[in-house]
Amino acid sequence: MISNNKSVLVITIIIVTIILLVQVGCSQKETNPLCPICNLNKDVIPIIYGLPDNELFKEGENGKVKLGGCIITDNYTQWYCKKCEKDF
Ligand SMILES: [Zn+2]
Repeated sequence: MISNNKSVLVITIIIVTIILLVQVGCSQKETNPLCPICNLNKDVIPIIYGLPDNELFKEGENGKVKLGGCIITDNYTQWYCKKCEKDF
C-alpha cells in the first residue's frame, strides 16, 4: 500500500507540473502588449535579436516573429505591429 501511495503522489506531481507549464505557455502568448497606434495586440509579434536558428528563421518568414538582427542598441524595441509596421 505504501508504494501505491508513492506512485499516486508522483503522478499528482507530474500532472501539476504539466498544468503549470501549460499555463505559463498560455500566459506568455497573452502578454503581447497593445500596439500604441491601433491599440490592438493581434498583429503584435515579438522582435527576436541575435542570429536566428532554422526554426526561428522560418517563423520570421511566416510573420510569427520579426528578426531584429544581431546588433542590440541601447534603445532596442521588443515588439512589432505588422498592421501599422511600427516597432515599439
Ligand atoms: Zn498597430
